[in-house]
Amino acid sequence: MVQKSVLIIYTGGTIGMVNDPETGALCPFNFEQIAKAVPEIKEFSFRIDSYTLPEIIDSSDVQPAMWAELCEIIYRNYDKYCGFVILHGTDTMAYSASALSFMLNNLDKPVVFTGSQLPIGTIRTDGRENLIAALEIAAAEMGGRAVVPEVCILFGARLFRGNRTTKADAESFSAFQSFNYPALAEIGIHIDYNYGAIDYTPRVEPLQIETGMDTNIAILKLFPGIRMELIDAIIHTPGLRGLILETYGAGNAPTNDCFLKKIEEAAALGIVVYNVTQCGGGAVEMGRYETSRRMINCGVTSGYDITTEAAACKLMYLLNKYKDVDDVKKYLNLPIKGEITSNRIGS
Ligand code: ASP
Repeated sequence: MVQKSVLIIYTGGTIGMVNDPETGALCPFNFEQIAKAVPEIKEFSFRIDSYTLPEIIDSSDVQPAMWAELCEIIYRNYDKYCGFVILHGTDTMAYSASALSFMLNNLDKPVVFTGSQLPIGTIRTDGRENLIAALEIAAAEMGGRAVVPEVCILFGARLFRGNRTTKADAESFSAFQSFNYPALAEIGIHIDYNYGAIDYTPRVEPLQIETGMDTNIAILKLFPGIRMELIDAIIHTPGLRGLILETYGAGNAPTNDCFLKKIEEAAALGIVVYNVTQCGGGAVEMGRYETSRRMINCGVTSGYDITTEAAACKLMYLLNKYKDVDDVKKYLNLPIKGEITSNRIGS
């Protein structure tokens, strides 16, 4: 019988950081000290291998090239492992998990991102529990099938769908939230899976990766007093193809003609304008208020209940895949990897 095994891919982040002796600042260190700090992982009944990226980073330095590298590692090793754990900094973990959810097609094994708020070498670290639970989830099978065949984030006591997750707290051990989608599992004495929330649609085709991202996008958070020159400068950025407007509440924006003209101008330039709410929870409902209804006429596409992190990754992914604006808009309006809630669509 082939022995079950999990691959840990170490990218950096606080979990493996140590204090620089000269500056005192936290910097990424090597994987060996993580393995040493959690000797319990040797007690799992499955094999654990590890792979460290050539350059380990603070996740604030993450670039789409690293997402492509992660996908290629998973693709090359897919048949050898029953699941993957990606150790990653928390700052951009929600972006990376969102990106991989779009880049990996027909995924039927767990890809579990985790990390920690305190380095693994510190006494009160949250890294030990996070790593152990992530490994257990990456190896969990039921009737020959992975229990969580999705890209997800394990942090604190919960497992979330990666593209529904946001880093909501810079200090708490429960740093992540998934405001618009239930947790896939609660971690307590037992790992309590929420089977109804996990995506079990049959994956008929083999794993396939699409690693291109068009980074010609911008995210503009609205605020009272925003200057039209700023919007103007953004929409005239050479090569810009997508603009995420982080709007108020249920997708509302100023109704003044100057603002709406700028949005119309962006659409006329072939820029996909994508409406995502600044709120953590709830959804954009274009047309509910006059302030959002007018944006429909300017050609703005609703983000429904998507997070900004998932919106940015979905937009970069679709802009790379489709050259035609209508195709991009069509797929923005559909859930590709469970990133928006079906019954919100059309609202
Ligand atoms: N700055 C760190 C990072 O994202 C924070 C963390 O890992 O918690 O790499």
